[in-house]
Amino acid sequence: MTAPTPYAQLQQRLREAPRTWLVTGVAGFIGSHLLQTLLSLGQRVVGLDNFATGHRHNLEDVRQQVGPQAWARFRMVEGDIRRLADCQAACQGVELVLHQAALGSVPRSLADPITSNDVNVGGFLNMLVAARDAGVQRFVYAASSSTYGDHPGLPKVEHAIGQPLSPYAVTKYVNELYASVFARSYGLAGIGLRYFNVFGPRQDPNGAYAAVIPRWAAAMLASEPVFINGDGLTSRDFCFVDNAVQANLLSATTDRGDALNEVYNVAVGDQTSLNELHGMLGRELMACRPGLTVPAPQYRDFRAGDVRHSRADIGKARDRLGYVPSHDIRAGMAVVAGWYAAREAASASA
Ligand code: NAD
Repeated sequence: MTAPTPYAQLQQRLREAPRTWLVTGVAGFIGSHLLQTLLSLGQRVVGLDNFATGHRHNLEDVRQQVGPQAWARFRMVEGDIRRLADCQAACQGVELVLHQAALGSVPRSLADPITSNDVNVGGFLNMLVAARDAGVQRFVYAASSSTYGDHPGLPKVEHAIGQPLSPYAVTKYVNELYASVFARSYGLAGIGLRYFNVFGPRQDPNGAYAAVIPRWAAAMLASEPVFINGDGLTSRDFCFVDNAVQANLLSATTDRGDALNEVYNVAVGDQTSLNELHGMLGRELMACRPGLTVPAPQYRDFRAGDVRHSRADIGKARDRLGYVPSHDIRAGMAVVAGWYAAREAASASA
């Protein structure tokens, strides 16, 4: 018999001794998965969101998944992290913070750097101040692989970063700097998670700034053309959302002193090109939807601000947090293709 993973052991401990968590960005993609997992584990959760890019239907989906008893342990604060008072209201009585709220997307930040900065830097600072003043035990926050910028090294290791390539990347790096200063100056115990292209159910396929997998899944299911920016050889370390949830829970609860006030890559440690991704997603969707045909992709210009290749070294998260990804890209893709196909079928029959 194999020994249970650190994450399995943690889940058992949490069930036995529930804690009070704050998830900011709770109506968003990653935030809603954190909420669902925490409520399923018997935890008490406060959520903060202003629904800028998140959706009420994500919360409704979680409510249906977890049932009324678990849902009763959830308190929603509708508010904006750009207002300190909203952050303070949300932090009240909270032990552990998982700060996800931000404006994602490199192109969004290139189009409107001021708003991205206001939310991602000003809002982040408000959250740090509110968390410090509320005496929370741990502040885990969403950092980003974009912080590697133009550093050519592969795989990406946490200590070797280059120059940022977008305003978004600047904001995420500033988060790391502020968290480090709050640890030194005020003793706030923080952990930054550099997510690498997270994907999974509930990731929004709509809007100009949709991520590649949901955008392509929606296009393929609608038999519309799929565009690849560049030659298709651009590569990423695609990370299924359950892995990101695991990293958050391990970070929030670790009692290892050398794990604190650090940043960690959160990924799988694999590299998949956009051409490979197109083939993989197309095959999975065609398996879910007999009769669907997925045409060859159409190529267009490279997109400004994008890094060329990305692959994480996940050794630091494995060694210090006990992080063991539960899903590689293929396992995650099978789940997500089924989810987008079912969602599209439900909306077509509505
Ligand atoms: P998302 O857009 O689905 O979720 C972000 C949530 O934050 C949304 O619900 C949105 O309404 C909320 N929000 C935005 N501005 C707010 C404000 N001013 N006040 C309160 N709430 C606000 O995005 P996601 O993919 O779930 O990303 C979550 C976090 O992870 C973000 O910090 C993002 O930068 C980071 N990240 C994500 C990825 C990825 O691949 N998805 C990669 C790297 C980093």
